[in-house]
Amino acid sequence: GGVPVAVLGSANADLVVTVGRAPGAGETVSGHGFTTTVGGKGLNQAVAAARAGARVRMVATVGDDVHGRLLRDTLAREGVDTDALRVHPGLPTGTAHITVEDDGENRIVVVPGANAATGAHPDDLRALRDRPPRVLLLQLEIPVPAVVAAARAVAPSGTRVVLTPAPVPRGGLPGDLLGQVDLLVPNQHEACALAGTGDLAEAVRWLLRRVPEVVVTLGARGCLHATRDGGHTVVPAVPVTAVDTTGAGDVFAGVLAVALAEGSPVDGALRRATAAAALSVTRSGAAASAPRRDEIDRAVRPAAPAGRAARG
Ligand code: ATP
Repeated sequence: GGVPVAVLGSANADLVVTVGRAPGAGETVSGHGFTTTVGGKGLNQAVAAARAGARVRMVATVGDDVHGRLLRDTLAREGVDTDALRVHPGLPTGTAHITVEDDGENRIVVVPGANAATGAHPDDLRALRDRPPRVLLLQLEIPVPAVVAAARAVAPSGTRVVLTPAPVPRGGLPGDLLGQVDLLVPNQHEACALAGTGDLAEAVRWLLRRVPEVVVTLGARGCLHATRDGGHTVVPAVPVTAVDTTGAGDVFAGVLAVALAEGSPVDGALRRATAAAALSVTRSGAAASAPRRDEIDRAVRPAAPAGRAARG
């Protein structure tokens, strides 16, 4: 049978240089630090889902190089099923080249490399079609036609398709993608960009004409859940002291997917995702900051008001 959660998406090596001041054209400067970490929204979501306690399969493409081996080893160590992690013979593993200046200014060059081939090989879709997951988690750091094809591939299986629409492509999303999505999870900026408006309520109305259910993440304000035929609910964030919000959205999506795959009702799933994302912002790193299942269990807030009484 299938796994509870499959993630089809990007996997990158993040190469981070710290430097006093970034060089200008033709200039050479000496940096003071360098780290290699794993990244890419797809990989981050897969790791977050695995730490949340589900069996997770990652469908992604890496190069035949040291970064590709790093990503495979990391995913395997995290317990993610890497059977559908494909090695492209001619492209480098995706990399993000990140320069961080002492004043905190960032410069980032992303080279998609092998990510650009994800979904292009028949094995990628076969991995989804033959053993369909209960939840398929998608993002937009691979070619959009591949994302559409993946959503289509699982359509006959009753798989719940969850899309975090990041980055929003220039020119918006093709209509045939949103038509395949069961649950859209944008942040506020993405929701507004997709709908072409600065007004969040208007954006949510626009999105609900295209997808049946939307969760807009609102940073430190929590998230907004809205359905086509139901109302709107705000789930407040768990108050924490933020250390590094990188990857909060990916942790949120990964944990939400796990809870939904386990049959949780949406409100309970959102409380788990909210608790997990809050834990992740108290730690640095993206995938590295994702909490484990027992930590989420301890941090999750009971439903108001019945749950509060039950705890009291
Ligand atoms: P990122 O790009 O940093 O990964 P995002 O823009 O995709 O994040 P956000 O809306 O910023 O997504 O955050 C996702 C979720 O993380 C929020 O819905 C919230 O539950 C949680 N969160 C984010 N920031 C905070 C914070 N400062 N305190 C508590 N929870 C937070």
